[in-house]
Amino acid sequence: MDTSKNRKILLNPGPVVLSQRVRQALMLPDLCHREPEFYALQQRIRASLLAVYGLSATHWTNALLTGSGTAAVEAMLCSLLPTQGKLLIVENGVYGERMSLIAQIHGIPYHRLRHDWLEKIDLHRLETALKRDPAITHLALVHHETTTGRLNDLLPIANICQARGIPLLLDAVSSFGAERIDFTEWGIAAAAATANKCLHGIPGCAFVILHKPSLPEQKNAPIHSLYLNLRDYLEQQDNDGTPFTQSVHSFYALAEALAEFSQQGGLEHRRRTYWDRMERVRTGLEKLGIKPLLPKDECSSVLNSFHLPKGISYKKLHDYLKECGFIIYAGQGELAKSLFRISCMGEISNDDLDRLLAACQSLPGEAL
Ligand SMILES: *Cc1c(COP(=O)(O)O)cnc(C)c1O
Repeated sequence: MDTSKNRKILLNPGPVVLSQRVRQALMLPDLCHREPEFYALQQRIRASLLAVYGLSATHWTNALLTGSGTAAVEAMLCSLLPTQGKLLIVENGVYGERMSLIAQIHGIPYHRLRHDWLEKIDLHRLETALKRDPAITHLALVHHETTTGRLNDLLPIANICQARGIPLLLDAVSSFGAERIDFTEWGIAAAAATANKCLHGIPGCAFVILHKPSLPEQKNAPIHSLYLNLRDYLEQQDNDGTPFTQSVHSFYALAEALAEFSQQGGLEHRRRTYWDRMERVRTGLEKLGIKPLLPKDECSSVLNSFHLPKGISYKKLHDYLKECGFIIYAGQGELAKSLFRISCMGEISNDDLDRLLAACQSLPGEAL
């Protein structure tokens, strides 16, 4: 363990505190991305990512890119819409809104279904929006909206979409590896995610899980981006190649993180671990009068938002806790004034969380 005085417990939603074995993987030998050893690493990661959700390689595949989570989301939206395709993008936070921005920048036809950041997705409005425009072919939405910590309830949404033959394009960046995703039942065409959140790798490798039968035919799919063309990644990665230089060391780290993930008990284990940690933090903070933003049954297991204690600015709270060894995360946009966020991904112990709570309990008077 890194015992240096500068060691910080990261409670932000990725990058995460690394385990010792993942950190060690960063020391593996230098490797050219056009050598068989790299292709073997790439294939190992691709197979392990499908295994996280028990997906069969007959119907499912994936593409690995070098970039952060947004690269995977952008690649998904840029590569998977057929010529006549049109998106309905559901927004109830920063990341849903970011998908609309991506569609706008690339000239991809879309409608937005806007919600306030604090709102649940309104099923009635969703149905109405789909009815109103029969040209809509895909629904794009965020699973865990990290803006607030809300886990969007996908089952009823998927039911509405499946009744109309509309597949989902999912931003699963902050849920993949920690929340249940029923890829087949929910009619998911693609899901984008990253190495450095619930999978506990380092930033640099992002990926898109793809339902093979839902891929548009190449001749019928416009190309919006050279670097983010998933078709290119798929073709080359299926044939031991890569279109561009990959972040070799983040691949090393992800392969190790996935091995650790499966040895620890896989998805259900990680989900329970996060849930227990979040529960510890919620209960502890509530005892100090610090209230969560959302009721427990609307929250992810990964991150929760809390109201700032009365009279304390985010900056004061952040700087004080940083002195104590913890990095918390600000609310986004207007929410920065009233909220802070705590995520429990990564190599964090209950002891760390108890020290966090003790630090909160002894917030100095001058912080007020
Ligand atoms: C983190 C995150 C992203 C990607 O953000 P990057 O800064 O590109 O890693 C996308 N969507 C959600 C829901 C996220 O939490």
